[in-house]
Amino acid sequence: MTNALLWVRNDARLDDNPALDGAIGSLSAGGRLTVLFVLDPRLVDHVAPPRRALLIAGLRDLDASLTEFGGRLLVRHGDPAVLVPETAATIGAPDVWVNRSITPFGRSRDQQVQRAIPLRTMDGTTTVPPDQIRTGGNTPYRVFTPYWRSWTDHTTPPTLHPSVDGRIAANHGDGVPDSDTEAPMAGGESAARGRLASFADVIDSGYTEMRDDVTGGVASGLSVDLKYGWLGPRRVLDVVGVGTDDRDAFRRQVAWRDFYAQVMYEWPETLEQPFQPKFSSLQWLDDPGDIEAWKTGATGFPIVDAAMRQLVATGRLHNRLRMVAASFLTKDLLVDWRIGERFFRHHLLDGDTAQNVGNWQWVAGTGADAAPYFRVFNPTTQSRRWDPTGAYIRRWVPELRSLSDRTIHEPSSSSPEELADAGVRLGLDYPAPIIDHGWARDRALAAYGRI
Ligand SMILES: Cc1cc2nc3c(=O)[nH]c(=O)nc-3n(C[C@H](O)[C@H](O)[C@H](O)COP(=O)(O)OP(=O)(O)OC[C@H]3O[C@@H](n4cnc5c(N)ncnc54)[C@H](O)[C@@H]3O)c2cc1C
Repeated sequence: MTNALLWVRNDARLDDNPALDGAIGSLSAGGRLTVLFVLDPRLVDHVAPPRRALLIAGLRDLDASLTEFGGRLLVRHGDPAVLVPETAATIGAPDVWVNRSITPFGRSRDQQVQRAIPLRTMDGTTTVPPDQIRTGGNTPYRVFTPYWRSWTDHTTPPTLHPSVDGRIAANHGDGVPDSDTEAPMAGGESAARGRLASFADVIDSGYTEMRDDVTGGVASGLSVDLKYGWLGPRRVLDVVGVGTDDRDAFRRQVAWRDFYAQVMYEWPETLEQPFQPKFSSLQWLDDPGDIEAWKTGATGFPIVDAAMRQLVATGRLHNRLRMVAASFLTKDLLVDWRIGERFFRHHLLDGDTAQNVGNWQWVAGTGADAAPYFRVFNPTTQSRRWDPTGAYIRRWVPELRSLSDRTIHEPSSSSPEELADAGVRLGLDYPAPIIDHGWARDRALAAYGRI
């Protein structure tokens, strides 16, 4: 009789899970599958409480699903390099089934485990395996558009989860811990499937244009489900389908996710180093006062402040606002993208190393297929364009709520009467801008231009 061990990481789901399929397929008659999650203190002790709450909610959901099939999720606390081989030995599994890790941390952890027991590695985290798509010269793609063209030929349909009824072991070990914080959304595969179905119903009502609407457009909101692996990306593409411009636009976004996973997988050094080495010599200023103002939403640029306050309060942030806030930090303040990247990753509910690093390097102009260095977002213009009535700013920067739709984007350019009427004393109720954008733009262009 052969038993099997599935080690769940960022793939807490039954559906479209190649490692689960492999593990079930390897069982001999009468064999049992143990589904293990290791609460690794190196990870769980360092994430923001809402993210920990989501992780726990996802595990609860998986445990509930496994209970329906007569089993339990086995939860253990500690070092995977010890606990995974130990569990395999206890249940008599010859190897361990996993979905592939993308990040340097995950890969080195897996290598450590692999020294004690073989890992059977499948690809369930990305739509296309991160080492599969190659240029004609057999190298990984550095540019997105040709990658995307090739990607569309490589996507494969998802798998339905195999019959697991009565085949899951029921030892739940330490059990799923309680969370000391309420999860900010319903976590886990069941809720994620519901969100995916709802999004598929509305995608054709203007995803392409509305995904840029920061005040409540039609973006999928599925990045959290993908980050925790409550949804497999192939299932997402399958449910969303093809055949309309909106669906194609959505597929393209999911391809960006694969692209950045590929970049991190092929060039793990980009976690810390610019993808384009020439930018290593860029002189970041890293002024502590500027960094603090950015983190706390006190820069005097209302759209940046609103974004940073929302990020810290909720862990959510629209893509457009991520770009505006990241551009302000790296270009206007000349603060190293790695500082912003860490702060975002700590707070974002969908904070994901490969995606966050890829996007930060894109904004900073140092990355693969990055925005050209001379693209510097003007926060005030962005604010007028994407939040024309100031509704978003009013929500997160309430001290400015009485300013008019015209002046709220740039209180410092308002007349003293307008400010007085709105009850705003610049420098007291709300900060004066910490920098002049035009001047800062020239400074950034000069710093980047020297390279
Ligand atoms: C500075 C910065 C940091 C970011 N950090 C992260 C992060 O840590 N984790 C993360 O998942 N995304 C990150 N993004 C990308 C993007 O902002 C989010 O994926 C998006 O806001 C999620 O919203 P959605 O699910 O409604 O996206 P939709 O517009 O509905 O897109 C569908 C899916 O495509 C993928 N996608 C969309 N845009 C991007 C993109 N630019 N790069 C990679 N994949 C994308 C996501 O998986 C998303 O769920 C970052 C972007 C920026 C500019």
